[in-house]
Amino acid sequence: MSDTIFHKILRREIPAKIVYEDAHLFAFHDIAPQAPVHVLFVPKQDFATLNDVPDSDALVIGRLATAAAAYAKAQGLAEDGYRIVMNCNGDGGQTVFQIHLHLLAGAPLGRFGTP
Ligand code: AMP
Repeated sequence: MSDTIFHKILRREIPAKIVYEDAHLFAFHDIAPQAPVHVLFVPKQDFATLNDVPDSDALVIGRLATAAAAYAKAQGLAEDGYRIVMNCNGDGGQTVFQIHLHLLAGAPLGRFGTP
């Protein structure tokens, strides 16, 4: 079984501001926010990177996106807008190898990062 920092957060072995949890996924504030609102949505099913998700598990990714949208709506962020991001491997800037979706919101965001 994978054992990343996110698994430890899920097991409440290290603290985090968890804002949502259901049978499939959980969400918590990023420790180093890159926007006024920066929440990570993490599936409970283990996948190190997006490359490891087979088409048969596409719903795992879909649930992350719909949970992020529901959170944005509940927080009154949906009208102004937000960004969702998944980083993959080195060039994508992935640092934690359990897939996760970043929700960034709360201010106008810059355009996408370039090298
Ligand atoms: P990524 O670079 O896409 O793999 O994203 C990993 C994210 O996890 C980064 O934005 C980190 O700031 C965040 N992170 C790392 N450790 C923690 C932690 N203990 N609690 C909350 N967020 C964390």
